[in-house]
Amino acid sequence: MSQKERPSPPRKGEDRLVDRFHRQITYLRISVTDRCNMRCVYCMPGQPISRLSHDEILRYEEILRIVRTAVALGVRKVRVTGGDPLVRRGIGGFLRSLSGISGLEEVTLTTNGLLLNEHLETILSAGIRRLNISLDTLKPERFRDITGRDEWARVWAAIGKAHRMGFSPIKLNVVVLRGINDDELQDLAALSLQWPFHIRFIECMPMGSGVASHGPPVTIDEMKVQVAGLGDWTQLQSHPNDGPAERYRMEGAPGEIGFIGAISHHFCHRCNRLRLTASGGLRPCLLADHQFDLKSLIRAGGTDDEIRKLFLEAVRSKREHHAVAAGERTSGQMSAIGG
Ligand code: SAM
Ligand code: SF4
Repeated sequence: MSQKERPSPPRKGEDRLVDRFHRQITYLRISVTDRCNMRCVYCMPGQPISRLSHDEILRYEEILRIVRTAVALGVRKVRVTGGDPLVRRGIGGFLRSLSGISGLEEVTLTTNGLLLNEHLETILSAGIRRLNISLDTLKPERFRDITGRDEWARVWAAIGKAHRMGFSPIKLNVVVLRGINDDELQDLAALSLQWPFHIRFIECMPMGSGVASHGPPVTIDEMKVQVAGLGDWTQLQSHPNDGPAERYRMEGAPGEIGFIGAISHHFCHRCNRLRLTASGGLRPCLLADHQFDLKSLIRAGGTDDEIRKLFLEAVRSKREHHAVAAGERTSGQMSAIGG
């Protein structure tokens, strides 16, 4: 862990975001919109979904206030996600303000890449260097079938441009879907032999209206068997600030691969995160339906101290394991929570 990434020690008398299972919360994921310009089958497939009205979405200044409070409580890393964050107007200015928050050490962005090309300069000038881009396939027709948009080439071109501009790391998120893209894992993993990309293979989670592919989700154990056929992978050591991915690299490769098995190998014991939904719900867990209404508190004139107390309450309510580990399905919509 670099000096910059290390959370500062608690000051005397300061409240910290530590839950009942001794997990310290340092990471906030923010969905800035539930809207998206794609319709991924596992997230928000074609059927009409209720979209939040302008008024129901947190305003940027409300989000910034929440983040300042979270940082004072020890949050050090924020990910901006959605829906697709780049469809929201004014996102560039918001990212600049967010990056400028003192005490926040890392701001990252997750996008489907469709509007990335035209936003790259703005993102770079906001001081963001780390990008996650979703890319479930290397086949343009399949990309169209999964996302509803015939735009594989556009996303691939934006990934290349981001690389040339010096964004690093660039993580490519692949949700593995049985019978849909699970025959491509070797080809996707092979990208890491040619590019300094981090390919992240993700188990499909049973969320909201997303259809979880044909048959049971592909587990990371199954994914590893396939990818092993490509050659010898060495497991990389992860350090406490790493995400949940189990990471591997092939000797001499510029990039790496990782597996995220939120369902079959849940990593709840290492969870360091909270989520802020597009409509201002503070959610202790992606895969559990309860959340705390920060928006109503703020709009009713809540003080910073009351926001702080709600954070502490949300953290105290974190369960030891997510609900899906106990066989439940969550009703939450991934696009509003942010993945
Ligand atoms: N629109 C952006 C994108 O797709 O990258 C950001 C939001 S999206 C909800 C964030 C991440 O969640 C993406 O990497 C997406 O692939 C992943 N995701 C969405 N639905 C999922 C599901 N049912 N299971 C696993 N991952 C999912
Ligand atoms: Fe949109 Fe991302 Fe959901 Fe796909 S995964 S529908 S790109 S929010």
